[in-house]
Amino acid sequence: MKKGKKLYEGKAKIIYATEDKRLVIQYFKDDATAFNNLKKSTIEGKGVLNNRISEHILTNLGQIGIKNHLVKRLNMREQIIKLVEIIPIEFIVRNVATGSITKRLGIKDGTVLKQPLLEYCLKDDELGDPLIAEEHILTFDWASKQELEQVKKMILRINDFMIGMFRGVGIKLIDFKLEFGRLKINGKTEVILADEISPDTCRLWDSMTDKKLDKDRFRKDLGDLIPAYTEVAKRLGILHEQSNVSAVNVTNLRSVRKKK
Ligand code: 5GP
Repeated sequence: MKKGKKLYEGKAKIIYATEDKRLVIQYFKDDATAFNNLKKSTIEGKGVLNNRISEHILTNLGQIGIKNHLVKRLNMREQIIKLVEIIPIEFIVRNVATGSITKRLGIKDGTVLKQPLLEYCLKDDELGDPLIAEEHILTFDWASKQELEQVKKMILRINDFMIGMFRGVGIKLIDFKLEFGRLKINGKTEVILADEISPDTCRLWDSMTDKKLDKDRFRKDLGDLIPAYTEVAKRLGILHEQSNVSAVNVTNLRSVRKKK
């Protein structure tokens, strides 16, 4: 599929047009940002790993009936996805309290929540993605009541599925962020899961040691991020056990460079 003009560049991904106006190409960059862009770096190989991990998770979610934007992975850094109108809300799902909620509400870090907690943030970098209530979403028409109900049902299933998938490979799913988009099909609008699901958007702790296997390594300077993301990919069976980090990076980056 031919890559057309750049439509949008975000902090971790670029969206390109294709000859089919319903489809776009999502390119995973190596850029890492945190604290609303205050901390930035380029981490070689991150985009390659996130592309693979997100493909794996979205494919599995598709198989249990969660409609999502993934059409197929094209190469090491790119996927073809359905073009959707993104709902401007970050849906944050928490199973264990850590991160912003511990600071905001004084909850002890690591507290296991008695039920999954759903929080909403407005997707607005200039405002620092502020926490909002369901009433804000409805008052300002960011999503309809019906869309929210649909999204909430999907989120509970996604959370259940992902908790089980990660538990099976010795990882605790602490929290994660989801985004949804509207897709027009035969005149009807449907809400589907969009964006990526990867260690950039989830908190993943080793079940035995609580070792952080996600972007908190970068946010909190906990050490190299690539070995942690590689570990997640290996445990999910995406990378072979014998693949080592440098081999993954170098081979994949070479194949990307050749194509350019
Ligand atoms: P917190 O609100 O504790 O900072 O984040 C909760 C969860 O949502 C974490 O798993 C975090 O990775 C994810 N998250 C929240 N906002 C963003 C964001 O803007 N970008 C990414 N990649 N993840 C986010």
